[in-house]
Amino acid sequence: MADMDSRIAQFKNMAEADPDNELGHFSLGKAYIDAKRYAEAEQPLRRVLQLNPAYSKAYEMLGKALVESGRRADAVSVLEQGYAVAAERGDVMPREQIANMLAELGHAPPPIAASAGRPAAKPVDASSAASASGFRCARCGRPHGQLPKAPFKGPLGMKILAQSCSECWKEWIPTGTKVINEMGLALADPKAQELYDEYMKEFLQLDP
Ligand SMILES: [Zn+2]
Repeated sequence: MADMDSRIAQFKNMAEADPDNELGHFSLGKAYIDAKRYAEAEQPLRRVLQLNPAYSKAYEMLGKALVESGRRADAVSVLEQGYAVAAERGDVMPREQIANMLAELGHAPPPIAASAGRPAAKPVDASSAASASGFRCARCGRPHGQLPKAPFKGPLGMKILAQSCSECWKEWIPTGTKVINEMGLALADPKAQELYDEYMKEFLQLDP
């Protein structure tokens, strides 16, 4: 529990030091949920959605926080929004999770326009682009722009190669530097490394 409190404190510092960085708020909200402090998770997760209304995973987390706080009607409205966003972006995992949560609340997922489910792609290559290599960036949904090789050794590096485009990887690098500086992480410490990796996974929205 002390461990969880210190994580929450760290993420709080991060969110306060860099209030326009969605990642700090997201991590804080997630840490509150992990600690079963559901009511406190609401504010940081709402902030994430203010900063980035396309962050489908944040709707799922906020929906969970609201359900656990006994606010089912609020949860349904957040989850319905999240379902539409996830469908629009082609975020398969959050979309399925959200559909399950809505079902548990006794609601069918809202109908999705026929054109949704895939990010805008030229009709000509819509079918071949995503399937040719099977690659699709987990964060932005682009079916191309895969990194030429894993950015570093190990299973996480391989996962990034499989699931992230080079644009998103490039965006992560300065964010990662900020995380290290603002949280005062010493990466020689395995705990700090773990926290850093967690941020990276959130940022790139890698599947578990
Ligand atoms: Zn991407």
